[in-house]
Amino acid sequence: MAATLRMSGVYAPTLKETPVDAELASHRLLLRAGMVRKSAAGIYSFLPLGWRSIAKIERIVREEMDAIGSQELLLPIVQPAELWYESGRWDDYGPELARLTDRHERWFCLGPTHEEIITALVRADVRSYRELPLSFYQVNMKFRDEVRPRFGLLRGREFIMKDAYSFHTSQDSLQEHYDDQAGAYARICERLGLAFRRVEAESGQIGGKVTTEFMALADSGEAELLFCACGWAANVEAGEAVITRTPATTEATSMEQVHTPGICTIEELKEFLGISEHDIVKTMAAKTPEGRLVYFCVPGDRELNPTKAAWAVPGIELLDEDDFAAFNIPKGSLGPVEPPAGTLIVGDRSLKGEVAWRTGANESDYHLLGAMPGRDFEVDAWEDLVFGRPGDRCPECGGPLEGARGIEVSQVFQLGTKYSDSMGATYQDENGDEQPFVMGCYGVGISRSLAAVIEQYHDDNGICWPLSVAPLEVAVVPLALEGEVYETAEQIWSDLGKADIETVIDDRDLRAGVKFNDADLIGWPFQIVVGKKGIAEGVVEFKARAAGERSTFPIDEAVARVSGLVREERARFAHVGVHGGVAAAGDVGGTGTADTGAADVS
Ligand code: ATP
Ligand code: MG
Repeated sequence: MAATLRMSGVYAPTLKETPVDAELASHRLLLRAGMVRKSAAGIYSFLPLGWRSIAKIERIVREEMDAIGSQELLLPIVQPAELWYESGRWDDYGPELARLTDRHERWFCLGPTHEEIITALVRADVRSYRELPLSFYQVNMKFRDEVRPRFGLLRGREFIMKDAYSFHTSQDSLQEHYDDQAGAYARICERLGLAFRRVEAESGQIGGKVTTEFMALADSGEAELLFCACGWAANVEAGEAVITRTPATTEATSMEQVHTPGICTIEELKEFLGISEHDIVKTMAAKTPEGRLVYFCVPGDRELNPTKAAWAVPGIELLDEDDFAAFNIPKGSLGPVEPPAGTLIVGDRSLKGEVAWRTGANESDYHLLGAMPGRDFEVDAWEDLVFGRPGDRCPECGGPLEGARGIEVSQVFQLGTKYSDSMGATYQDENGDEQPFVMGCYGVGISRSLAAVIEQYHDDNGICWPLSVAPLEVAVVPLALEGEVYETAEQIWSDLGKADIETVIDDRDLRAGVKFNDADLIGWPFQIVVGKKGIAEGVVEFKARAAGERSTFPIDEAVARVSGLVREERARFAHVGVHGGVAAAGDVGGTGTADTGAADVS
């Protein structure tokens, strides 16, 4: 029998007022519906209804993980520093890693992710290729001391993640499990009702190069996406958009130095020369770990993408004020012509074909017109260096790219041997030789997913849950707490429970208006109102929250009709283990305020 609750016994402190500094709908509604409460910046308690929804998300995730043969375990949150020294991340991770000492002055950290712990675990016990592949997952708290915790559960410091790690003898075996994980992630998004896209991405602190993110589409999302009708999609951080650029001029001219007193920015130079920023070449300076100067030259109307710059020249750091002084170079007048000896010049590939560059002269208050590559300076390498934008071309098919915003709900990574090499984690192959494990890792933000669902499913009155994530499925609201009205309501409530439908009865001694408001705020997907007038006519009122549809059902049919609707709705979200052939996530929502356009679920 499914859960049947009495609202009088549910701790759900709903709020009438909009909480201050809750900017996003999910943050506001989680607080207003009494689902979470903040303890400190980015640190939340989950109250009973919020926790029920979290449990539903976790259950879906567990089913999908079990279906692809990943085994659940639980790893410690407090991790010994030694393992992080081994991987090199004790230093690399920076201030996001929360560090602490025990009473013996030994160092530990709070796990922001668990590659070190699991690699050490497998290193200790797995000896032979015969024991591989292996895949493990856990559902656990993570702690990351984020610079700007915000938007409630979307960017917390303490948050719930499902993380999985796999160990293989070969790239092929890793690829197979990676594809299984990505398939499971797409199904998780579908089962949560999320309109989403899977996008090419960047691996950040985790490492590795092959990685895919799953983005819940939402205008409030922090991530910027580019996508093409052909199915290609990427995070702008990583996407290789093709820029079609009309050169400022195709005529070679002689190079001319112009006096540009006090001009330091592209904006100022554009005004001064009376041309567009598109026709200027901007130079950004960086240094390699060995201290070599690198000039990145990009179109003046584009931004250098630091991720791509670091792919072009590994380990670079953009210069800060002190560096400019140390290298003795003029910040507002950099350019590729006669830079300090040994400077590496990397040009954005969209500048190929530009024969007359307008650029800095490497001397304060001077710029150059008509600087010609090959004649006046050399470009050492042409690379993709800038952020793509809508209107650029698809790298797969050449079609025009469109833009969207998204919330990263999950990500899969091929790590290769990054951790097994640094931590010396090996197994014996068929020939008895020691080989490093080939690894993958895979993360779903459980608490972030809850917020992402609300971003897509809400209206002015509250949350409009997809059934799969709602704290309970049906609410029965009696308009009196005694007599025939209450008896009928209680009968329907208990019969729904017997029919395996999760049902709450609002037996609180409150005005009807308050109960209705709470029902819509909390967002019970199906609501049955039992009143005196209806009873006289032999009916109850019925409301489907998301669609806003109202109707009446004969009292003796109410349980069958509502349980039928719940079962239909459950079936729409039940795709466990099914590969392909499922409804596009975009078809599922339709009720949220966010753009729930067609999502890629292939
Ligand atoms: P972001 O780029 O948003 O900071 P991330 O790429 O660093 O996230 P991963 O290391 O890929 O995050 O972690 C896996 C998942 O954990 C993410 O896809 C996201 O859903 C969730 N997650 C990461 N950071 C947070 C956070 N601060 N609050 C809530 N969920 C988070
Ligand atoms: Mg990520």
